[in-house]
Amino acid sequence: MIVDWLIVGAGFTGATLAERIASQLDQKVLLVDRRDHIGGNSYDCYNEEGILIHKYGSHTFHTNSSMVWNYLSRFTEWRHYFHNVLAVVDGKKVPVPFNLNSIYALFPQKYAEKLEELLIQHYGYGVKVPILKLRESASGDLIFLADYIYKKVFYHYTLKHWELNPEELDPSVTARVPVYISRDNRYFQDTYQGIPKHSYATLFSRMLNHPNIRVLLNTDYREIIGDIKFKRMIYTGPIDAFFDYKHGTLPYRSLRFDFDTLNQEYFQEAGTINYTNEYEFTRILETKHLTGQISPKTTITYVYPQQHNQQNEPYYPIPRAENRLLYNLYLKEAEQIKDKVLFAGRLADYKYYNMDQAVARALTLFKEIAEKRS
Ligand code: FAD
Ligand code: UDP
Repeated sequence: MIVDWLIVGAGFTGATLAERIASQLDQKVLLVDRRDHIGGNSYDCYNEEGILIHKYGSHTFHTNSSMVWNYLSRFTEWRHYFHNVLAVVDGKKVPVPFNLNSIYALFPQKYAEKLEELLIQHYGYGVKVPILKLRESASGDLIFLADYIYKKVFYHYTLKHWELNPEELDPSVTARVPVYISRDNRYFQDTYQGIPKHSYATLFSRMLNHPNIRVLLNTDYREIIGDIKFKRMIYTGPIDAFFDYKHGTLPYRSLRFDFDTLNQEYFQEAGTINYTNEYEFTRILETKHLTGQISPKTTITYVYPQQHNQQNEPYYPIPRAENRLLYNLYLKEAEQIKDKVLFAGRLADYKYYNMDQAVARALTLFKEIAEKRS
């Protein structure tokens, strides 16, 4: 087979690049994925009981980029949805990001009023303060609050999820879920938020429905690379695997998802409940809150963190200084072959991208490809 581009990985990064190259450059693309479906980690499907589930954990789309939103809106309409997350703290379910409502749910009224006043005095209403910053900057009564939130919301959860303390990770990780001096219970405040109206799988199949794109599933690219002729390649898998781990294994974190379907309409109050202190799982997810599907049954997902090995999936890069140094060695290797192979995506860039960031990265890379060509 002869194509212009071999693209490895049919997640948001690979699918966006395939779509752009096929439709805008009129070039032929072979898109290969070793899984039996397109969509990468954003994939969803109906289970045996007819419930639409997110196979790799709940995915809520959120972005401030009108460019990304408008681009994806060519392939989907949206179900408007704001993600709500609760954390179990001292036996109560309280909003996360931890906010003023969480304070009122956990402390006596008078003390909560005092904490609210102090927070607003120190930081201002509507301000987001990363927990590690709050611990540094808090004074007086706020030191108690900072330590309480750190211990009850962040410490054990982070240890379970990463097997590391919050301080052992890049501060940007826990800053994703800052303490929010507000009464806004939404998990994200981005301008655009939602779920593809007819599923992520439909969105992906519309993106890839182009005569210049061929999709090959259940195939590791290494199995076929000798049999096809291509001019250039885009690789969105783990960068260390591409280079046969020559500089050592780049750490990724994995998860196990345990699904359970129940004969009841809903199981819990929100799409995600974080068990920040108890149990080995970090979260219970209930996708019906996201999809709005009407059914007398519901499917829930227990999320268990685990070490990455050759048998499971590398879901998260682990952002910390020593891993960045190792990644930089692979980046140097990648730069030497950039005329032939381009690297992009959460696994290949070793960056903790959300979906919109993966799409933005792919659109930027496409622009560079298109500009070089003209
Ligand atoms: P991926 O989706 O990982 O796709 C890479 C693909 O490459 C995979 O399908 C893989 O099978 C394939 N591949 C790898 N190696 C090979 C090979 N050798 N041969 C063939 N194929 C190969 N983002 C949000 O914005 N909102 C959320 O709510 C959200 N929730 C998340 C929850 C979880 C549990 C996880 C893990 C991620 C979540 N994300 C969320 C992030 C989102 O999943 C990523 O941003 C997005 O999937 C990145 O797309 P990608 O194409 O770079 O990578
Ligand atoms: N986090 C936490 N407790 C929470 C929520 C988040 O400790 O209740 C920390 C934890 O380290 C987590 C990080 O903040 O890995 C980022 O959380 P996010 O919800 O963005 O993680 P993701 O959805 O990507 O797994």
